[in-house]
Amino acid sequence: MRRKLVAGNWKMNGSLKALEELVGIAEAAAAAPDVDVMIAVPFTLIAPAAALVPTLVIGAEDVHEAETGAHTGCVSAAMVREAGARFTLAGHSERRADQHETSHDAWAKAAAAHRAGLQVILCCGETEAERDAGRAERVVQAQIEKSVPDNASGDWFTLAYEPRWAIGTGRTPTVEEIGSMHAIARAKLRMMIGAEADRVRILYGGSVTGDNAAAILAADDVDGALVGGASLTAAKFVPIIAGA
Ligand code: PGA
Repeated sequence: MRRKLVAGNWKMNGSLKALEELVGIAEAAAAAPDVDVMIAVPFTLIAPAAALVPTLVIGAEDVHEAETGAHTGCVSAAMVREAGARFTLAGHSERRADQHETSHDAWAKAAAAHRAGLQVILCCGETEAERDAGRAERVVQAQIEKSVPDNASGDWFTLAYEPRWAIGTGRTPTVEEIGSMHAIARAKLRMMIGAEADRVRILYGGSVTGDNAAAILAADDVDGALVGGASLTAAKFVPIIAGA
């Protein structure tokens, strides 16, 4: 009942030339009608990407929580929407680490994005030290509690579980560990938004590749993947769409 979603995150990568990769990705997306495909790109590439591949859902990697104002260097949800974005990431662990964003910030950004008509993929996940200390579940539950808006629904909201130690490292949790954390996340969502939690997709992110995607995406409660490095080229990303 929940459609699979494979989302890419280009991070601070890409160029006008690199957008050519989106053509092959859009073709693969069109050939996989049961899978939703989205790509988040740097702000400057949103408009050219949306123009180049109008069938592909293009998004932002972050938005500011305010609509307008004196926030030099920031970009609002309405601005990225006007540029052609249809979704945004919020609370990515690199924003949390590099820009010191909190779960409350992620909540405010998700709420602002929804008000502006964007879909939201909100990220959570523990550090390696937190996992080693046996605190992974509590950390993820607390992040969900503080960052998921009360009105989250499957129509616009997706959660991504991304253990920080698995991002860009080539290391992943076992499929069982992923399934178990997704079940914990869904139970937490049920406590917050009731039966609507069963309509919210929960993605796994962290070193997903064409080689491990099918096994991860087949796990219980895994509704798709959020993919960084392997989303930068059609050659690497298309096999992940095929594995969904
Ligand atoms: P990765 O990144 O696939 O390169 O590990 C995932 C992410 O940060 O969303």
